[in-house]
Parts: sequence; structure tokens; C-alpha cells
Amino acid sequence: MASIGAARTILSGQDSLRDWQESLYKDFHRNPELSHREERTAGIVAEQLTSFGFQVHSNIGGTGVVGILTNGDGPTVLVRADMDALPVAEATGLEYSSTAVEMDDQGTQTAVMHACGHDVHMSSLLGAARLFSEELDAWAGTLVVLFQPAEELGDGARGMVDDGLADLFPRPDVALAQHVLAHPAGTVSTYPGPFLSMADSIHITLYGRGSHGSMPHLSIDPAVLAAMVVVRLQAVVSREVQPGEFAVLTVGKIGVGAKSNIIDDHAVLELNIRTYNKATRDQILRAIERIAKAESVASGSPKEPNIELYNSYPLTDNDADVTARVADAFAEYFPAEAIENYGRQTASEDFSDIPTALGVPYTYWGIGGVDPGTYRAAGAAGRIITDIPANHSPKFAPVLQPTLTSGTAALVVAAAAWLGKH
Ligand code: ZN
Ligand code: ZN
Repeated sequence: MASIGAARTILSGQDSLRDWQESLYKDFHRNPELSHREERTAGIVAEQLTSFGFQVHSNIGGTGVVGILTNGDGPTVLVRADMDALPVAEATGLEYSSTAVEMDDQGTQTAVMHACGHDVHMSSLLGAARLFSEELDAWAGTLVVLFQPAEELGDGARGMVDDGLADLFPRPDVALAQHVLAHPAGTVSTYPGPFLSMADSIHITLYGRGSHGSMPHLSIDPAVLAAMVVVRLQAVVSREVQPGEFAVLTVGKIGVGAKSNIIDDHAVLELNIRTYNKATRDQILRAIERIAKAESVASGSPKEPNIELYNSYPLTDNDADVTARVADAFAEYFPAEAIENYGRQTASEDFSDIPTALGVPYTYWGIGGVDPGTYRAAGAAGRIITDIPANHSPKFAPVLQPTLTSGTAALVVAAAAWLGKH
């Protein structure tokens, strides 16, 4: 593929970017911001893109930023990064650790950390944007770089779409994005078809009747009701979903009561489900509703449970042709040992809301962020690989290099597969 020559030309300035990019990354890492509050972050992104000569649109769907670099006739490629951090207290011990504290939506002071690696995504995409801006002779077309808020809540991408995203640039030919994962740094992994699962959270309130702890006969105990529901839910995936069809149903939170001698009047459950298939998702949602209602009846509950769906994430279903084109370009650019297959991930993402809304094929790939020596040592010692802190862990600490270098190269190589001159 001739475009790999263009990619190499665009990446020729990568070494000179290293110090700038590492300090940008450390600054993002030290100053994380919770979902929908990425104001400082978005300001830096907009300032950088402006300095590279991009036309910049800020405050799209809240804090979203879009940069557009038009360089003659050719395809339009959209590349996306996410900007938000998580309510996690950093425990990496890194010299550039976050000590940030924010007031969350419940009014509680909470420590904040880039525990999902979105700082890697932003630094890599800014690096790629800068490299494209410095080698205009090597490519033609329009490069759209998009920095979205609130990936962790699942509504940041949709918010940008709803705020008129489609009117800002010509319809892209392709949309691209990546995530840093707990795999060896320097490696990349593409996947055709359903790569990241759909996700839904479900909030259930179960109703009982309160009483003194010494007088259970006057109560309808919501603790017992909740326990029955939790046990029954364990049979949904194991007994109702067809064997071989992937599904996860987790009860992540149980809340009932305040004190040992009081029987509460309600209990709260928070569930999370992951599927790759809408029919399976709907089957599980129906089963949850059936079980919550039937167990309430069995307990003599005074009213039907309240069931609410929230934080829904779409399926990330990579286009086969687009994925093949990116995989071919990666195979040409990266050494053979850098090409891995991480397999399907049960994590979820809202990125696909953007290409789906714009009617654009897309692919989303993984890059490694774990020191290769640490990764190999964990394997050699016979420990399971999940011993290595993964995304959302307070100890999730991607190594600076080669993570940033390969993350930037992956974006350039993939985008140049469309934009590169032959
Ligand atoms: Zn995350
Ligand atoms: Zn993430």
C-alpha cells in the first residue's frame, strides 16, 4: 500500500515531538477532570489545535472540541479521543500522580484520576494532529480530530451529535478511534466485527414494609426480597441465555437498611449487563423485570418494583473493510511482534454513537500500555495476566514509552491509509 510511504513521511518528525508530548501527557495526567467538566482539558486541546493551524470548534455538546484541517481535495477522516477522568484516588506512586479532588454530583469530595488512560488518547491524537499539520505535502483531504467529553457516562458522544456535530464538516469517509489497554506497550490489535460489548445499567427499587427489628412479623423485609432477587438473577445467564451466546449480568450494588434493629421499607439494587447482541440484551432485560416483579409478589410487596435503565452504551461493531485496511497498514508499518490479537473486549464505549449518527463506517482498535518486561514477568511467574492493574484501577499506570510513540503512530498510519498521497 503506497500510503505507508506517506505515513512514514508524516511520522518522520515524531522524535522531535517526544518531550513536548510527554510533558503534555503528564500535565493531562496531573490535572484530570470528571465527565462533563473537562473545561481545562478542552481549553488545552483547543489551544494546541489552533497553534497547529486547525479550524477549531469548542463547546460542542458541553466541552467537546473539534479541529478541522483541510488540505486540498481528498477523503475526510474523523479521528476521535475522549477527555474525561474517573472518581478514583490514584495509587500509582508516579511522580506525575494526580492529587486532584472535585465535588461530585452528589456533593461529595472525590479524588479524580485518569484511570482509564484517556490522557494517552488525547496526547496521542494531539501528536498525530501536529504531525499531519507539519507534513502537508504527504497527504490530501480533510482531517477531523474530535475530543469528546464524558465517555465514562456513555452520553458524551451523543451530546456532540445532538449539538449539531454533522454541520461542522463534510461527511467523513471513515471514523477511527483507539483505547489503551493492559497489554504490552508497543503492541496494537485490530478486530473486525463486534469488538466492544453493549452495556446497560439498571437501577431497581424493591418495596417492603418497615418495622422494628424485633418484630419481623409486622414487616415485609426488603433485605430478604433483595437477596432472593440477587440469587435468581444468577440463573439468567446460566439457564436462560443460549449456551455459547456471550452475556454478563452483574449485581454491582445492594443497598438496604441503616441499622441492625430496623427493618427498612425498601431495597435498592444496581445491575450491569454486557451483551454483543440486541436480542440477547432484550431477553435479559425482560428476565430482570420478570424476576423483580415476581419476587416482589412472592414477598407480598405493597407495590411493583421501580426499574430504570441508565448509562446505556452502544455496540462497537467494527466495519470489516475499514478494519482490514487499518490492519494491513499496521502490518506494513509495525514490526511483526507488535501486531497482537487481544480478542473481543467486554468493556464498552460510546464512540460508535458518532459514526452511527453520521452514517460512517468505523473501526476501533486497542493499543498496549503495560511495560513489556513487567507483562512478560507476570506471565513467566505463572500469574494470571489480570494481576496487572487494568483500566479503572487506582494503579493503572501506562508507561510513557513506547505507549505514546506507538499510540501516535497507530493514529497516523490508520488515518494515512485514507489521506496519504500515493
Ligand atoms: Zn473507562
Ligand atoms: Zn476509557
